[in-house]
Amino acid sequence: MSGLVWFRNDLRINDNVTLANAFAAHEKLYAAYCFDPKGFERTQLGFPKTGSYRAQFIIEAVEELGKRIEELGGQLIIRCGDPVEQISLLADELNVECVWTSQEVTSEEVYVEERLEEELWKKHKRMEKVWQSTLYHLEDLPFPMSKLPDIFTLFRKGVEKESSVRPLAEHSLRLARCETIEVSKIPTVAELGLEALAEDTRGVLGFEGGEKSAWNRINDYFWDGLHLSSYKNTRNGLLGANYSSKFSPWLAAGCISPRQIYHEVKRYERQITKNSSTYWLVFELIWRDYFRFVAKKYGNRLFYAKGIKNKALYSSKDQVAFQSWMDGNTGQLFVDANMIELKQTGFMSNRGRQNVASYLVKDLEIDWRWGASYFESMLIDYDPCSNWGNWQYVAGVGNDPREDRYFNVSNQAERYDPKGAYVNHWLSGRTVGSI
Ligand SMILES: Cc1cc2nc3c(=O)[nH]c(=O)nc-3n(C[C@H](O)[C@H](O)[C@H](O)COP(=O)(O)OP(=O)(O)OC[C@H]3O[C@@H](n4cnc5c(N)ncnc54)[C@H](O)[C@@H]3O)c2cc1C
Repeated sequence: MSGLVWFRNDLRINDNVTLANAFAAHEKLYAAYCFDPKGFERTQLGFPKTGSYRAQFIIEAVEELGKRIEELGGQLIIRCGDPVEQISLLADELNVECVWTSQEVTSEEVYVEERLEEELWKKHKRMEKVWQSTLYHLEDLPFPMSKLPDIFTLFRKGVEKESSVRPLAEHSLRLARCETIEVSKIPTVAELGLEALAEDTRGVLGFEGGEKSAWNRINDYFWDGLHLSSYKNTRNGLLGANYSSKFSPWLAAGCISPRQIYHEVKRYERQITKNSSTYWLVFELIWRDYFRFVAKKYGNRLFYAKGIKNKALYSSKDQVAFQSWMDGNTGQLFVDANMIELKQTGFMSNRGRQNVASYLVKDLEIDWRWGASYFESMLIDYDPCSNWGNWQYVAGVGNDPREDRYFNVSNQAERYDPKGAYVNHWLSGRTVGSI
């Protein structure tokens, strides 16, 4: 019997557990990707839910996945429309008994999964959802989801002590083709209703979607540059490609898995050096896991104004102040430089994100969900769990055990950009003295 793998945020061949399990279960296995126009519509705040940077990155990742699938004898069938309709129709056309997909945790994605499962059930077909987005597998956690600690350190210590990272999924894959089916072409950014992009050469890296580019980045960062050896000391940087790994866009689209990075770190530790920096990269991947499990535990509360703490905070709806924040025009130069970087490239450092988020919520006193929505639109590495979880954390309604944490942005600028090099890089022309 045959099966269909519906790719979503798992745009890779290697260490793809969904693909490996589906391949083991079927004689013939087809592959599909669906562009859902809903994901590119404008939000109530006026910007698209997925902006041009991420759209372009996903297009590239899907293109490359299509090439890899061709090499494996198959074809990546492209559809545009509601995935529930499109994938269930395709399941009929291909006459498959089962649709396989990687399990998601946030409400919109889960809603689509549930409706598709129902549609397939009506047609006497099955759906298999496979957990694979995290470093530690859901089933390997040392606590049930309802008892997931609300403090990161407790979670981290728990998994470090009692769980282990599974080995990579191995498979020698062959995929099937159906010559009578329409494969369809991948839409362009313009066809998705978005503005075309002009590259800004001031950006930290020319991010390109796809599994191959993800591995190029790993090779550059780990093996050619040996930057992993000093990651812990550089990770709060702001300028250049190598102060941090920049793996996030590839992780978000699933061009690479956190387990692949973990096993590569272990190889680095065996072959080059093992130190606090090599540990710290894995530590950050555990943060990524944590936000995903928090999203699973709390469901829609990830998106509530009062957050998972159920705490009322600032809720100003000042459109003018919000616009000046988005435009990098607040007059606070460190904030402005970061917001311009985001606008021009779709990327911002972790230090920058913490500062601009804190400034929006604690200084401008604006509803944190507006900021999170804007990040959702702009970030090339947008991931619902990491984004909304981090925003809740900074806003003081999430997993931060410290009450009323405040980033003094001027102090932060002095500490992390003492000579104003970063501000000058993005705001040359405006005076640094006015920070
Ligand atoms: C307000 C706010 C919003 C954010 N939104 C996102 C988002 O949408 N997508 C996203 O991937 N990250 C998000 N982050 C987390 C973090 O800023 C980025 O993961 C990081 O800057 C990406 O750069 P890097 O890959 O070079 O990270 P590195 O420092 O090299 O870290 C390696 C990897 O660890 C993970 N990681 C690191 N820090 C965090 C963190 N705080 N939370 C979760 N995972 C982390 C990422 O997957 C990252 O690629 C957000 C942080 C803040 C404060």
